[in-house]
Amino acid sequence: MTGGRRAELATALAAARERVAVAERATGRAHGDVALLVVTKFFPAADVEHLIDLGVREFGESREPEASRKVAQIRADRGDIVFDADMIGRVQRKKARSVSRWARRVHSVDSIDLVDALGGAARRSLDDGERTDPLGVLLQMSLDGDPERGGLVESDLRGAADRVAGHADELRLDGLMVIAPLGLEPEEAMARAAGIRERFVADHPGARELSAGMSGDLEQAIAHGSTCVRVGTAIMGARPILSP
Ligand SMILES: *Cc1c(COP(=O)(O)O)cnc(C)c1O
Repeated sequence: MTGGRRAELATALAAARERVAVAERATGRAHGDVALLVVTKFFPAADVEHLIDLGVREFGESREPEASRKVAQIRADRGDIVFDADMIGRVQRKKARSVSRWARRVHSVDSIDLVDALGGAARRSLDDGERTDPLGVLLQMSLDGDPERGGLVESDLRGAADRVAGHADELRLDGLMVIAPLGLEPEEAMARAAGIRERFVADHPGARELSAGMSGDLEQAIAHGSTCVRVGTAIMGARPILSP
């Protein structure tokens, strides 16, 4: 069965990589311009290890303590392999410290309180030798102000970015993240996100990352400047129907 799962993941991964490559070409972007973060939430460490064997080195996780446990398991099994895991899901402030132990970046930063919690947590992780680099921060933007999906409306991005700058020794502002709202066509959502990002980068030229695009809308996201697509279902298959 193990061989079957690896073959299944290999086929789906190749197809997702091809979709990214086609979308890059279609908008005149260089091959490799867009990072493919494979979202492995709900799937076992064994699947992540298959993906490592298939050359994947960047993963997205969204739930604690599942993510901490999996990353520790994979590091124990594959101590020789360097890979990165990003936190892409909502972070409760009390989980900031555990996230700061394993995450390269947090994509879903959507409040000043969370910036402060992550700043304090990353500081302690750096001091304790649990990490060597500052924790990357992507501010999650909201296109519709819907509190359910989270995110900061455009007028709140500047204050949050200033707060990240106030933690310059332990946090690094990498850019913005978006999840397309349910009620909006992907094309319209990604066009709006691109507009917000253009204005944001004018003020924060070092924060060029745009984490946008999932299994269903990665083409539209890449056409509108995404630098990182977060792909789960199209590679891993359907997740169990459980609210996270
Ligand atoms: C689960 C998740 C994804 C992956 O979504 P798919 O539609 O399965 O590709 C992307 N981004 C976030 C924030 C997620 O929680």
